[in-house]
Amino acid sequence: MMNLTSPSQVKAWCIENDFHPNKVLGQNFLIDQNAVKQIVDAGLEGVECSNAKILEIGPGLGVLTEEMLKRGVQVVAIEKDPVLAARLKESLGNPEKLSVIAGDALDYIQDDFEVMVSNLPYQAGTRILLEYVQRHKLESITVLVQTEVAERLAAKEGSKTRGLAGVWAQLDYDVKIVRKVSASCFWPRPEIGSSVVRLTRHDRNVGLSDEERKLFHSLTKRAFEHRRKQLGSVFKDLIQSTQRAEELSNEEWVSLVKELINANA
Ligand code: SAM
Repeated sequence: MMNLTSPSQVKAWCIENDFHPNKVLGQNFLIDQNAVKQIVDAGLEGVECSNAKILEIGPGLGVLTEEMLKRGVQVVAIEKDPVLAARLKESLGNPEKLSVIAGDALDYIQDDFEVMVSNLPYQAGTRILLEYVQRHKLESITVLVQTEVAERLAAKEGSKTRGLAGVWAQLDYDVKIVRKVSASCFWPRPEIGSSVVRLTRHDRNVGLSDEERKLFHSLTKRAFEHRRKQLGSVFKDLIQSTQRAEELSNEEWVSLVKELINANA
């Protein structure tokens, strides 16, 4: 079997198979054993491995998949590239605990998982994450994303990087940046560095109704579309405030949503 953290073996496989990593699909393969271990350690922390079923999006050549299977978990991997999807299972020795779905993760949003561990593709990564955080079914999500995305997910109110992704993620998850992963840990080498981020579900907003959640998402979306404006001028008569979207904490957004719904009841 190929050593997936050996750059020379990975490159040789690509040449032999006339495979050219696709930029649009974000095909930057992880080739650093330490980083692989640390992502899987963070992703499986607190997980009872013998019973767990992990969702992996974009397994690529299978470097994270292989490490997770070693720990005894079951993995369901969704891979958009038909060539990579078709070879994955056999290339890892046909493990019983691996199922591969060939397709776009956005067409296969799954609700029957507790844990996601993935090195997400550059382009579709944020959209995939936001789909899952809005459904808030996963207990934890550990992903490798561009550092800029990781920082936005973790950003608190008042910070320059505060945006919609962070506000939506933090409604149901505590977000922690686990570590940085330098561009040299990937092949081909990307232009920017990445970070491992772990989202762990909290229960502070479990009581929100569907109506409250819907309003939370539409209100924050509108507010961040006009992030430089004061909320009072974005929402006219609805909200009297001189604050801007990035200044409000999640608790304040949730209170605002509740007030608006009560006022209309
Ligand atoms: N997990 C591998 C690793 O760590 O080396 C590969 C990670 S690479 C950054 C992203 C992977 O996601 C690629 O294999 C790419 O083909 C796949 N991919 C891109 N867009 C996708 C999508 N919408 N759905 C599923 N997989 C996708």
